[in-house]
Amino acid sequence: PINEVAVTFLSRSANEGFARTTAACFAAQLDPTLDEINDIKTAVSEAVTNCIVHAYPDRLGPVSLRLRLFADNTLEIQVKDRGVGIEDVEKARQPLYTTGNEERSGMGFTIMESFMDTLRVRSTPGKGTVVTMRR
Ligand code: ATP
Ligand code: MG
Repeated sequence: PINEVAVTFLSRSANEGFARTTAACFAAQLDPTLDEINDIKTAVSEAVTNCIVHAYPDRLGPVSLRLRLFADNTLEIQVKDRGVGIEDVEKARQPLYTTGNEERSGMGFTIMESFMDTLRVRSTPGKGTVVTMRR
């Protein structure tokens, strides 16, 4: 990467906005359109919300956000937690699949996928999850 920042925060819902804004600030060096900034903010918001809601269902834990910029202007966003992990990632990525309550629609991964060019999800049950997106 030609530039990189990383920040780790506690899985408090207040920090979702912090992560979203941090990503938008980092992406600003790409001189993005407002639409592009909003796509990036939404994707980060979905990934971080998943950590807050699913990774640590009954405790607070660390969430790491790493932002990297490559020479070809690719932006990479990585969101990592050390929470419960995902048993079946392929299933979890399906639209409308959710283990959450009625507040969740099961569309987070689908939104990340549609707003970014690539989405990679690596997870180990009991160890945590790493979501990596590029565009
Ligand atoms: P929505 O995002 O629409 O509110 P959702 O969070 O359930 O609903 P997705 O974001 O697509 O939908 O996630 C699908 C499922 O994958 C979740 O219900 C949860 O079971 C699992 N999941 C996603 N992220 C994590 C994570 N970081 N740790 C543990 N499980 C996760
Ligand atoms: Mg979600």
